[in-house]
Amino acid sequence: MFLIAAVLLSAAPQNVVLVTWDGVRWQDVFRRGPEAALPRFWARHAAHATVFGDPASSVRFEVANVQLVSLPGYQELMTGSPVDCPGNGCGRVKRETIIDALDAHGLGDRCAVLGSWWQIADAASMYERTFVDAGRKPGEPAAPWGAARRDRETWAKAMSALQGQPRFLWVALNDSDEWAHLGRRDELESTLRQYDIWLDELLETLRAMPGYGENTTVIVSTDHGRGDGAAWVDHGRESPEARRIFAFAIGPGTGEKLEIDETFTHRDVRPTIEALLGLGPRARVLPGVTLPLGPAVTAQVDSALARGAVEALSPAPRQPPQELGVP
Ligand SMILES: [Zn+2]
Repeated sequence: MFLIAAVLLSAAPQNVVLVTWDGVRWQDVFRRGPEAALPRFWARHAAHATVFGDPASSVRFEVANVQLVSLPGYQELMTGSPVDCPGNGCGRVKRETIIDALDAHGLGDRCAVLGSWWQIADAASMYERTFVDAGRKPGEPAAPWGAARRDRETWAKAMSALQGQPRFLWVALNDSDEWAHLGRRDELESTLRQYDIWLDELLETLRAMPGYGENTTVIVSTDHGRGDGAAWVDHGRESPEARRIFAFAIGPGTGEKLEIDETFTHRDVRPTIEALLGLGPRARVLPGVTLPLGPAVTAQVDSALARGAVEALSPAPRQPPQELGVP
């Protein structure tokens, strides 16, 4: 049902910038007006974005597992499948990720991953990769929490990597989750406003990169939500409401207001990225669907179908949230 739109866009493969904001709640993302945590996004970019998880719509976005902590979520995002990861200590991902697929297609030198949290490396790839830079490095400023790198360092490195015109760039920010766990609503609000400024800068930078920026789709999401009410500081299986999250995408052809009643999950992100990048053959083994981001996705899916690179990308039956790594 997502493949029927007429293809008006050329089938030029896209580049993708994925930005994740750790543990940012949909309740904060969708605050509008004077209380908005993301005022630039709502004022300048939302009209061109395809948005998932808005409580005012029937297009939901969810975590696909019941753990509702970071690493299982990031691993599902990167693999597009269920993973053997019951918690943040599960170690390196054991299934092929989008990064591994890109490397197999000879695009390893066109990827970059910049993460504040060191365990982003455990989600990005089955293997150690030179282009995955996660966690605080010697000489970088310390954070008030453990070994994670401050987001401002990560963001600066990511914007530098963007100048190399990567096919796929993942920027994984983390300060939001740390301030929330510390119960620092004030610092969390400042962090969200900074994320809003950075997103605006990213989109403006892309606009100023002819030949690259207009063929790049930016996807923003999170690894999990948080508890309701006083439980907003935490997340996990004791807060099932943390399952509900958000995602939005801004790129060529996005901005359609979706009039569907549908639930999408983390597992739908990888096939979407692969479609945007023009990769087909591996998508058919994944359980997810491509997100309805408009003609840029549709054109790539149609092109892959025409080449015989994929058999079909019709939606698979939805599965309930699953226990991961539990026999
Ligand atoms: Zn957390």
